Amino acid sequence: MTHKTVLITGAASGIGLEIAHAFLKAEMNVAILDFSQSAIDAATVQLAAFHQHCAFFACDVTNETQFMGAIDDAVAQFGGIDILINNAGVQYIAPIEEFPSDTYRRLLDIMLIAPFLAIKKVLPLMKEAGEGRIINMASINGLIGFAGKAGYNSAKHGVIGLTKVAALEAAPFGVTVNALCPGYVDTPLVRNQLEDLARTRNVSLDKVLDEVIWPLVPQKRLLSVEEISDYCLFLTSPSAKGVTGQAIVIDGGYTAQ
Ligand code: NAD
Repeated sequence: MTHKTVLITGAASGIGLEIAHAFLKAEMNVAILDFSQSAIDAATVQLAAFHQHCAFFACDVTNETQFMGAIDDAVAQFGGIDILINNAGVQYIAPIEEFPSDTYRRLLDIMLIAPFLAIKKVLPLMKEAGEGRIINMASINGLIGFAGKAGYNSAKHGVIGLTKVAALEAAPFGVTVNALCPGYVDTPLVRNQLEDLARTRNVSLDKVLDEVIWPLVPQKRLLSVEEISDYCLFLTSPSAKGVTGQAIVIDGGYTAQ
């Protein structure tokens, strides 16, 4: 049996790691690209049962030579790429007047330029194969503003625009391109942010959830990483072949208000 191959950036932790796990359970090959060696080491242990179908490539997606080299290595190892998931992301919060310009550029590099470079590299392979699926991890911050998140919001709005253009260009070749827009997902990153907020305010985590987060989220819960990986499985399934160019929102009702 020929296994399909999925390449996921930023997949050594959080949402990306769960997506990798879901695709491995679905018997696909998974190439994990990440720049954190400690996260790669931990993920290697966590995914040890799948070692025959899982490969790790340490690289910084903002370093074009390194990033393109890692994609070449993944193609050489697995024979192609059927599914690309641009997932690597970072947060930085500060008002625009205090936002360092180089940090703003770095956020765009990681969450907008890197997906552009990966699509540019992988789309010709998918076109040649006559099929392929691309998912860009955006956010509800790609649809609405959020004070303090100039870099993150700009990148996530941009990647939704990139998704639509790529979808139009890829559509005649059997390739779909979509963006996922999660709200608050229960990851170590989000937990740490909420705990920081609780410490700053000198209140409990539950109080932060009750007073700050739940008023924004009608379902009054954090999303699970499995809810996001399930959507990735759906978007890469035959049932989703007509879905392309969309920014798909999974947010517990946040943006409905
Ligand atoms: P995370 O910090 O757990 O994972 C992000 C991964 O990206 C890390 O493993 C990190 O090492 C990697 N990474 C960061 N910069 C990189 C670079 N330059 N090169 C290579 N790898 C790099 O975060 P997460 O919460 O799992 O977020 C994953 C994606 O989902 C991000 O794009 C994020 O914006 C998006 N997202 C997250 C949430 C949420 O609530 N957690 C909500 C909406 C969207």
